[in-house]
Amino acid sequence: MQILPRVMSHPVIRACCISIRNFSGSNLLSLPSSTGEANDLFSRVRVPSMRGHLRDALSLFYTAPIQFQSRAVYASLLHECARHGDLEQGRRLHQHMVLSRKPYGWLDVFVSNHLINMYAKCGDLHCAHQVFDEMPSRNVVSWTALISGYAQRGFGDECFRLFSCMLMQYRPNEFAFASVLSSCRYVHGKQVHGLAVKMALDTSIYVANALVSLYGKSFGAGGDDDGAVDDAWAVFEAMEFRNLISWNSMVEAFQFCKFGTRAIDLFTVMHREGTGFDRATLLSVSSALCGSNDIGVDSGLKFCFQLHSLSVKTGFSMEVGVATAFIKAYSFLGGDAADCYRLFTETSCCADIISWTGIITAFAEQNPEMAMFLFGQSQREGLAPDWYTFSIILKACAALVTELHASAVHSQVIKYGFAGDTVLQNALIHAYSRCGSIIMSAQVFDEMESRDVVSWNSILKAYALHGQANEALLLFSRMNVKPDPTTFVSLLSACSHSGMVEEAIKIFDSMFENYGVLPQLDHYACLVDALGRAGRVPEAEKLIKKMPMEADSVIWSALLGSCRKYGETQLAKLAADKLKELEPDNSLSYVQMSNIYCLGGNFDKAGQARKEMKGSRVKKEPGLSWIEIGNHVHEFASGGRHHSQKEAIYTKLEKLIGQLKEMGYVPETNLALHDIEEEHKEEQLFYHSEKLALAFAIMNEGSLRCNKGLIRIMKNIRICVDCHNFMKLASDLLGKEIVVRDSNRFHHFKDRLCSCNDYW
Ligand code: ZN
Ligand code: ZN
Repeated sequence: MQILPRVMSHPVIRACCISIRNFSGSNLLSLPSSTGEANDLFSRVRVPSMRGHLRDALSLFYTAPIQFQSRAVYASLLHECARHGDLEQGRRLHQHMVLSRKPYGWLDVFVSNHLINMYAKCGDLHCAHQVFDEMPSRNVVSWTALISGYAQRGFGDECFRLFSCMLMQYRPNEFAFASVLSSCRYVHGKQVHGLAVKMALDTSIYVANALVSLYGKSFGAGGDDDGAVDDAWAVFEAMEFRNLISWNSMVEAFQFCKFGTRAIDLFTVMHREGTGFDRATLLSVSSALCGSNDIGVDSGLKFCFQLHSLSVKTGFSMEVGVATAFIKAYSFLGGDAADCYRLFTETSCCADIISWTGIITAFAEQNPEMAMFLFGQSQREGLAPDWYTFSIILKACAALVTELHASAVHSQVIKYGFAGDTVLQNALIHAYSRCGSIIMSAQVFDEMESRDVVSWNSILKAYALHGQANEALLLFSRMNVKPDPTTFVSLLSACSHSGMVEEAIKIFDSMFENYGVLPQLDHYACLVDALGRAGRVPEAEKLIKKMPMEADSVIWSALLGSCRKYGETQLAKLAADKLKELEPDNSLSYVQMSNIYCLGGNFDKAGQARKEMKGSRVKKEPGLSWIEIGNHVHEFASGGRHHSQKEAIYTKLEKLIGQLKEMGYVPETNLALHDIEEEHKEEQLFYHSEKLALAFAIMNEGSLRCNKGLIRIMKNIRICVDCHNFMKLASDLLGKEIVVRDSNRFHHFKDRLCSCNDYW
């Protein structure tokens, strides 16, 4: 007993003794009270929460006399290892147990259950299962510990299998039910629900909470979408007692099912009834504001503001996750970017790079300029970007107009020592190619020391995007990693964009034969596109018919595009109908049909198609183009209504049109979408947004950022035939390369030719 004074004087153990008084023993794996072991000092030790102290306690334990190393002490320490997720120490303790040669039968169900729990909580499911398998006898707790381990790691199927095996021997408790429900698929969940009703466990708060959550999450994941939210609500309503988790699960279910208004209403009830709320509630409600179509912008903004005020009052807004969720909601609802930024600076007084990365992420997709600004701001605050910051900001760069941002970030990547990072290099290849600089993409690729399949796919996709199919094919022949399905999508789309239909067919046929990659929807879409563009429309149709899966909207719109190009009205009608069925909100089918009828001179039917579009509340996306002049990005809408220098731009454009007409430019009025007078048709064409952008670029030649003889225009929809002809001639007249990025690809116009070989 010499050790006791030393032990008692140790700060860790002293702290433990204090916590003993508060120890409620509510743990699932609670200590057996019948063993005398529970009375000794160590057995009652609740090791304080810091991991360092756990290690101190363990080293004390290892030096303690053998009589103190009882089952209960082992159990208690294993429990602490599990709580801290300290696999290394847990494993050491297990080894210690084995090496200290306990008498036969010492390792009983109680200690084994703790071992399973420790391994499962620390993520080593293999060891957990091994301990479980080697147990001569098990009880409900053993099964539950293993099942919850699998559930926590998301192995739903294995979890369900174990649960089913358990049923043969034991009646599962509410924890086993809750675990299996938290991870299983909808169909299995329904069965487990039925069983819970039979065993009268469905009213247990744990089981009911898990059910609400399961039904909410099954929305859009193979379950019955309409029924999902009703099922969740039925369980919630039937609950006799509810805790905060129940309410949160229901709010989250509404959020998942995109019932924003109902999420807000439920939160209002929660608040009124005094249930309270926590971080999770705020995150769910604010996310519900982002993803739901049933909330108007005005009422959404108003509620967002009220919720935000509430979170300021309760101090939750100081949490970066909550602040970021509000920023996301404000930015989604069209709130002012400056307001969002102010919100961020007000709420995150000591923001670190992680929180900055959070707000940059919130903007990266919807507002890449703002994301760039914030990235710069974080640097001005003296914060060093980390790997995550770079991976996010490079995504934003890919959406911007020039490669300047990408190259600025690139130099930072080098400065902070990430130059050799494959993932960031892959992101750079993508970013450079998206903003038009295929040369830089190729350079990054060439300089890479180690390339993975994503690197190859990124550069192949870059070549595809820029219509350089030969380069893509040449590179593919040098590829030294196993290609995956994405590789073939890049190759096929490169061929399709360059009109290399024979090569496309060859690649498609070789995919499975030579590389074992089964063609998926994307691959079929590319081949349909390639055949259609080359005028082989019947073959494209045949291919769709013999596909082993149902064609999706991408495939039908590819076919529709080629039908328009080659005047196949009958087939076009079929494709357009399919497209309307699959994507009722997509304007493409209506616009293309109207164009096809126009081409055939059938203006009545063209008008009808457009009327139908109006009736269905689908709007044709208005054409927009962007160009960067100086430090400013200028936006042009077709017709140029918004620009402040509208008059000067019109004058410049008219002059340009005159010059091009002398060179042989004939407006393709055939494609103008209205049955109006010839002259008017011309007029409409002249003011397509990319033409206005070009005129403006010429007016500001001196301050073009990437002038190197290059004019770069970004456009949101596909470039029309007339603008394409126009740009080809203009590149010759101006002696410059003009690059237009439309919704699908890049067009490099030079010396009257386009890189797409007029296939797009
Ligand atoms: Zn046009
Ligand atoms: Zn082109």
